[in-house]
Amino acid sequence: MKQLSLRYVGELDFEAKLENILSEYNSGSYKSILFHIYSGVLDKKLIIGISETISKMFSTDQIIGSISAGEIKNGRLMDRGVLISVMMFEQADVRVHRFPGAKDKEIRFGREICRLADSTPDCKALELMLPGTNLHTRNLFEEISKCDRSIQVFGGYAGGHSMESSEHFVFDHNGIYSDMIFLVTYAGKDFHISVDKSVGWQTLGVPFKVTKADENRLITVDGYPAVELYEKYMQITADENFAEETFEFPLMAELDGEELLRHTITVEPDGTLLLAGYVTEGMNIYLCYGAPADIVGKVDKRLDEICEFRPEAVLLYSCSVRKSFWEDFVNIEMMPFQQIAETAGFHTWGEVNRDKNNGNVLEYNITLLSIAMREGEPKGEIKRVHVDDSVLKGQASLIKRLTKLVYATTNELHKAYSDLSAMNNKLQEMADHDGLTKLYNRRRTELLIGECFAGLKEGEKAALIMADIDFFKRINDTCGHAVGDNTLVKISTIMKELLEAEGGYAGRWGGEEFMMLLPRADADKAYELAEKLRSTVESMEFEGAGRITVSLGTLCFDSKSDPKSIFKSLDDALYAAKEGGRNAVVRAN
Ligand code: GH3
Ligand code: MG
Ligand code: MG
Repeated sequence: MKQLSLRYVGELDFEAKLENILSEYNSGSYKSILFHIYSGVLDKKLIIGISETISKMFSTDQIIGSISAGEIKNGRLMDRGVLISVMMFEQADVRVHRFPGAKDKEIRFGREICRLADSTPDCKALELMLPGTNLHTRNLFEEISKCDRSIQVFGGYAGGHSMESSEHFVFDHNGIYSDMIFLVTYAGKDFHISVDKSVGWQTLGVPFKVTKADENRLITVDGYPAVELYEKYMQITADENFAEETFEFPLMAELDGEELLRHTITVEPDGTLLLAGYVTEGMNIYLCYGAPADIVGKVDKRLDEICEFRPEAVLLYSCSVRKSFWEDFVNIEMMPFQQIAETAGFHTWGEVNRDKNNGNVLEYNITLLSIAMREGEPKGEIKRVHVDDSVLKGQASLIKRLTKLVYATTNELHKAYSDLSAMNNKLQEMADHDGLTKLYNRRRTELLIGECFAGLKEGEKAALIMADIDFFKRINDTCGHAVGDNTLVKISTIMKELLEAEGGYAGRWGGEEFMMLLPRADADKAYELAEKLRSTVESMEFEGAGRITVSLGTLCFDSKSDPKSIFKSLDDALYAAKEGGRNAVVRAN
């Protein structure tokens, strides 16, 4: 295969260049051709005209166009021009499919795309070129994710240089579209493709919880308006420069183990952030920062893979935020790709990729998506290519050092935070449980009973069982305190298992007294369970202590019961069991 890229600089020049390509195409033995047009120019007449010229000259429909926030020609940023990438394939069957009027048909089209992918012989990859706003691509992606796991998925969202939604369209020789999905199927036994993204942004500080969100709208975080995250920690206020100022500090959202970066497009008067990409309630999010050294490191890692792969062509779909981040240095992370193979692409408003862990097709932001293609076996020697970041002198190198410092302190903070959460969990555990028996302690048992009582609706019943071991003092006196302890633990385990099986709770009330709560039981059920407990203990042999017995009282209550008299009645029932000769269950009046 072969990729050529040309910049449109005028009709005559363009037609002459196309003529050359056409004669090469006709003289070679090519099976498919594909034109990508990336335009930083919004002139609709011009870009449709360019597409028409291609379509007529090559008699083809294999054209997909996208508005771009920066075109990438030969691995360099080409600002505000029209770039045409021509890909010619010797064996691969590469086809453009169009899904017009996709708004509200995302699920249906997603299914069709999935079917198409699975029924195309030797389908290796799907490319999606999407208008930047308007569509519920999450629904679309969920359906596409069901296609065979071996099929790679990549793509980009259209968008120009400003926030204007009218700039987010795709186009071809027939017109411009704000709701068209362009799909390209790449198929062929000998067609090989390697797709992956490089990120490199690092998290800052502790996680926050998304408490309210709606698709791309992040409404509240930890219960506060989302904008406060930036106001409080970054001193960035909600004014017209908000999006620009927060570009360097995007949010990282965790989804099924995948890390998705999200930057802000606009802030709404109520403090809601409109993000490039969706978030969901319950997700953890972090503030992030871009550290040049880490970003370069990630790109280098990807370059290693691509060097091994030895492609014949590379596409780069890079987030427009990376362009803003690097400013004058943007080429340093793209140029090395051109040293490997002809590299073209554009700066996007969102990158599409298939998550390697579970096959989900997702929308990413702030990534550099590199798509390396090859037909047949790798040709030529493997050459090693790296990002040359020696140009990051002066201010950039100062940033490099400062971000290193931030990284180190953030890591320490993360560690401290996770130690603290672990400690908190442990303390909570200790505050709720009895140290010896591991049952709920009295404090927690009382709280559970209180909650149960407060939650009872009219007509609903709950029950309590109180138990006391018979002649327990004797066990201590004759067998020793340690045997006494072990016996308490053993009996507690029996109670816990029996109660949990019935949806109840067992607590240690004091010494060798226990309180059990059955939130949805009546008097008969409580009696039955107490009797089961009594007979189980009676029939057992306790190590060191031999045979022992328990006495129990049971009581049923409802929302009208007097909380004060409950415990008195239960105590009386237990006392009656003791008085009656022990090893017995007595119901409270
Ligand atoms: P009964 O209830 O049948 O009337 O007789 P009892 O001997 O069980 O009565 P009492 O309530 O007087 O004695 C309870 C004993 O339980 C007293 C105390 O030594 C023992 N005890 C309380 N807590 C623990 C403990 O954590 N470990 C051990 N080994 N013994 C305990
Ligand atoms: Mg006792
Ligand atoms: Mg007692």
